[in-house]
This record gives sequence, C-alpha cells and structure tokens, in this order.
Amino acid sequence: MQQIIPKKCTVLVIGGGPAGSSAATHLAKSGVDVVLLERAEFPRNQVGESLIPHFWKFTDQLGVSEQIQQQGFLRKAGGITLWNGKVQQILFSDYGYTRPGLHVERDIFDHLLLAHSKQQGALVFHRVAVKQVDLSCAQPIVYYLDTRGDSNLAGTIQCRFVVDASGHSSLLAHQLETQHSIGSEMNFLSLWGYFKNSRYVGADRQSHHSAEMKAVPPVTFVMSHANGWLWHIVLREKTSVGLIVHSEKMKAMDKQQREVYFKQSCARLPHLKDLLRDAQFIEGSLQYRPDYSYYATQTCQQNYYCIGDAAGFVDPIFSHGIQNAFYNAAVASLAISESLKNTSKSARYAQLCESRIQQFYGFSRALSLGDFGVHGVNRDLVKSLMKAMSPLELELMLVVSEMTNRSANFKQLAHEAGVWVRFSQQHEQQKRGLIEDLQF
Ligand SMILES: Cc1cc2nc3c(=O)[nH]c(=O)nc-3n(C[C@H](O)[C@H](O)[C@H](O)COP(=O)(O)OP(=O)(O)OC[C@H]3O[C@@H](n4cnc5c(N)ncnc54)[C@H](O)[C@@H]3O)c2cc1C
Repeated sequence: MQQIIPKKCTVLVIGGGPAGSSAATHLAKSGVDVVLLERAEFPRNQVGESLIPHFWKFTDQLGVSEQIQQQGFLRKAGGITLWNGKVQQILFSDYGYTRPGLHVERDIFDHLLLAHSKQQGALVFHRVAVKQVDLSCAQPIVYYLDTRGDSNLAGTIQCRFVVDASGHSSLLAHQLETQHSIGSEMNFLSLWGYFKNSRYVGADRQSHHSAEMKAVPPVTFVMSHANGWLWHIVLREKTSVGLIVHSEKMKAMDKQQREVYFKQSCARLPHLKDLLRDAQFIEGSLQYRPDYSYYATQTCQQNYYCIGDAAGFVDPIFSHGIQNAFYNAAVASLAISESLKNTSKSARYAQLCESRIQQFYGFSRALSLGDFGVHGVNRDLVKSLMKAMSPLELELMLVVSEMTNRSANFKQLAHEAGVWVRFSQQHEQQKRGLIEDLQF
C-alpha cells in the first residue's frame, strides 16, 4: 500500500538531488519534521560525475561518508587540462588532501544520499511532482501531483518552510520571476553522452586501458577546443564525455544534427579521439542542456529557501556544482533550524543565508567564467569568502584558476582581497603543475 502524504509538515523539500537530500538529512538529524517530494523514481540519471575532495567535509557532517567509501566509486588523483595548447596537472595530494576526489555514477550516488535521508527520518515520496507554491501566507501551501497510482492525484501540503532544491527546473525562481540567464559572451550549452571501453588519462599523464585502473589512478581530463571545452570522465563501467559549445554554434541544429556533431567531434578532436579509439558510443545516451548559466536574485526569505541548482548554476569546468549544493543545503538547514528555535529572528537568518549562498555562487562564477556578464555577483561577498578560506583550499583554487584563460575575475578579486600574495609565494608549486605534453 502507498504511504499517505501528510497534509502538514514543518519543512517541505522539493527535489531529492544532492541539495534536497542533504537539506532533508540535516533537518531530520536535528529533529525537524521534514517531507521531501521528488518527481522521479530513483535511481535516476544525472550528469556531473566529477567530485573534488572538498565534498568529504559535507558528507562527514551528513554521516554518509562511510557508505560512499563502501560503494567503491573510482578514486581520482586530480585533473589534467589542455587549454589553448598549455598542459597542466593538479594532484590533490600536492595540496595536503589525504582523501581522494571521486568519479561517481550520479544515479547511484544520488540514490545513496537520498536513502540516507530516509534512514535519518525524512519522509521521502517519489513520483510526486510539485506544481506550484503559494507563499502569500505565513505557512506556504505546496500544490503537488501524485503520479504513483493508476491515475494522477492532485494534493496540497502546508508547511512552515519550503526548500526549493528542484535543480535546473528552478521552480520557485521561475514562479517568482527572479531567475536570470547570464547575459555574457560566455553563452554556452552542453551536450554529453557515454561510451563503453574508452581508455582513460592516468595520474602519470599517459593513456591507459581500463584494466590498469587499480595500478594507475585516473584524473579528470579537460581540454579547450575551437568552440568551447570538453570533459572526459571515466566511470566504472562507462565513460562520460561532454562538449561545452558556444550556443550560437548549435542554435540552428536539431536533435539529429547535434548527435552527428557530437560523434564527429569525438572522432576528430586530438587526444579525445585517441582515448576513444577502441570505444563504442552507447546509443541513446546523448543528452543536451541549453538553459545553461543562470542565477536567482532572491534565494531566501522568511518562509522559503532556494538551494543548489535551483538557486544558480555556472559552467561546471571546476566541478563546483555538487559542492555548491552541499554547502547551500548546510547553511539553509542551519538557518531554518535556528529560525524554528527563535522565530523573531527568522528574517535575519534568511538574510544571512542569502549572503552565504550568493557569496559561494559569486566565487564559483568568478572561478569558472571569464566575464561576469551584467549582473549577479556581489564582489565584496566573494572577497570576504576568499579571506576566510583555509590556506590549503584557497591555494588549490588559485592554482586551478590558472588552468584556463577564464580567471581574470578571480585573479582580480584575489588581488583586491589581498590573498593573491599567498599565491605568488607558492609560485613554485604552481610551476610544478605545468607539464610538457601528454604522452598519448
Ligand atoms: C553538463 C554538466 C556537467 C556537470 N558536471 C559537474 C561535475 O563534474 N561536478 C559537479 O560537482 N557538478 C557538475 N555539474 C553540476 C551538478 O550536476 C549539479 O550542480 C547538481 O546536480 C545540483 O544538485 P541539485 O540537488 O541542486 O539538483 P539536481 O541534481 O538536478 O536534483 C534536482 C531534483 O529535483 C527533482 N525535481 C525537479 N523538479 C521537481 C518538481 N517540480 N517536483 C519534485 N521534484 C522535482 C529532479 O527530478 C531532481 O531529482 C554539471 C552540470 C552540468 C549541466
């Protein structure tokens, strides 16, 4: 028999990706009555398989790190970029990280996180899609469609707080018309698919057969090309390959033409074609995301919080998406549980959370995009984050920013925040990242 969706709860979370599931876990762990509605059946596909080691601090807080370790995801040693002819390598171990980055199958990873939320006491309902939220009253009313049975049933649930973690659907930002696309020259879209039997790039800078994975750990491989950049991320049974392409280039293409463009690029681009020389494309796996970089001007109010991709998204070149989702979820849940304890301060907690979310978003955007477009970044907030970061994390980010030609904003902000000096002192370390060429 189907579990009945309650009519009331304290926090209603929309979406069970990393942002929604971790918000639900934090809240359930602190004793809050939380319901999560997810429109898909899990496991469900999702892109974004590369995780930088910073994520462990969040999964430690959630209490799910051990389960992640037990899953046996591929451990990655770092990244190699080939950007405008310059090859650079980063090994996390050079920056004191003792735990690895990971290449994860997102269907498995996200499922594991959401199962953990249930174990912690969150009530999770799949195949229930939120349609609209009425925020006009102190206790919002959430309208949903329950698609679990033979016929779809409309229903409502009333709560104290809504957490919108609906990913790039950005349900609330669309409803409230607070979402903006980044108006800039960095107007890209993404096109990705999966291959069987690809070779991979190892930490020794050479290409390897997948059978060698235990002996030589993989790295994430990123390369610029004439129309954007690409990623090659090896997973346990398949390899994720994505092209980020200027939107203009693909504007007039239909689905079939995009597939031809993707396959031709994979067969033609240097290094990528060598990695894929014995590989087979998994037919039907090609996916496409046109609504690419965006942000919401208002993410937190007294009765709602938008987190993860529902609040903003930037070009994923430095794998910040999941980290951003975890971070947003941690600060939003703290703001909510404190507001529940002290209702007179709920506006202040929402405001604090808003600045934290905008701060981290601005940081990621400075790191990942070569220009800021017209709006959407509070420079002072980004500088204060740079000043507050741990030296190790900051150093890694400063070095990472040097790996592409997109770091003008980031460097400028680091100068203004007075942290660039630290980077200059570490210049030898940065030079260590520069390598002659790839040997494949
Ligand atoms: C091309 C590309 C490559 C990327 N690469 C990386 C990478 O390598 N590393 C990285 O860290 N990040 C990467 N990202 C970003 C990363 O995938 C996202 O930042 C991350 O998934 C955000 O998590 P989330 O929980 O906010 O959203 P999602 O993971 O999108 O989860 C949202 C959930 O909400 C559900 N939902 C949506 N609408 C409703 C509704 N109305 N009602 C109920 N449920 C709903 C969806 O079904 C979904 O399960 C990439 C993104 C793209 C587009």
